[in-house]
Amino acid sequence: MFESIADTSIYKNLNLNKNLSHSYLFYSSDKELNNILALFFAKTLLCETHLGTDQCNSCKQFDARTHPDLTILKQDSIKVEDISKIINKLNTLPISADKKVFVILNAETINEIAQNKLLKSLEEPNSSNVFILTTTKTDKLLKTILSRLNKIYLPYPNFNDKKIIAEELKKQNINIEKLINSDFSLTDIINLSIDPNYQKIIDEIFKLLRDINTTADIPSVVNSLSINDKNNFYICFQDIVLSCIKDDYKKYDRNLIERINSKYSKKALLKSLPLIEDAYKKQMSNVNFYYILDNLMFNILKEKFLCK
Ligand SMILES: [Zn+2]
Repeated sequence: MFESIADTSIYKNLNLNKNLSHSYLFYSSDKELNNILALFFAKTLLCETHLGTDQCNSCKQFDARTHPDLTILKQDSIKVEDISKIINKLNTLPISADKKVFVILNAETINEIAQNKLLKSLEEPNSSNVFILTTTKTDKLLKTILSRLNKIYLPYPNFNDKKIIAEELKKQNINIEKLINSDFSLTDIINLSIDPNYQKIIDEIFKLLRDINTTADIPSVVNSLSINDKNNFYICFQDIVLSCIKDDYKKYDRNLIERINSKYSKKALLKSLPLIEDAYKKQMSNVNFYYILDNLMFNILKEKFLCK
């Protein structure tokens, strides 16, 4: 049998079954982690045995998002109308479970007026309702809201937990297995694994490291790249360099890793990491992509010669 989120050490350590509260906030810097754990907790609240792993009717309805006592809000912007829809349901009795569960994912997207409206329902709890919110940005929530929520901080999952979460994501057709060993956040991993351009990005990065031998090569190689996903580009770049440093052949072609290692010393690769990080930050602030990459390759070459 597959392990479930309930078997992850991160979830077990939360001890959520003790003293049920009427409102929760799952928070950490990782959006996907917050949401996966919060949704699983919601599932256990509605489940007939409260395990969330028993395939009972309630669990099936939860997975299909058709459970009558479940409301999930997940939008780029949550407005007063959306909160009103929740408030209209608060005073009705649960239909099939013993509680009604309201999940608001990425609660930083609730605008201020809507937060004030939500606050009123949090101030007057009703034992048949449970609120579960998630966020990566607690500073975007009103202090008055924060003070009403039972705050659950999530530490970053270990390797085993990541494997279990990967199984869970596979059910949603998201395959993160090949990326499981990486140091990225789950959010980054998922973005990469569902990105059809991912393999293309990897090919382009190998091309950069392989084909640029002197500064004179930089403009032509850099300009020959076509990159659609410019943010993930630097995340991948850093990961490839890390794999080279660690002689790790799990994610990328062994020949490619060895080829880069024959060209660059480990020391030069290590010194490249902060340079890539810096390029990533510049990319986030919308500096011209080719300009940043030109600069980055120039600096990496410089390290290559200095660290010979
Ligand atoms: Zn169940």
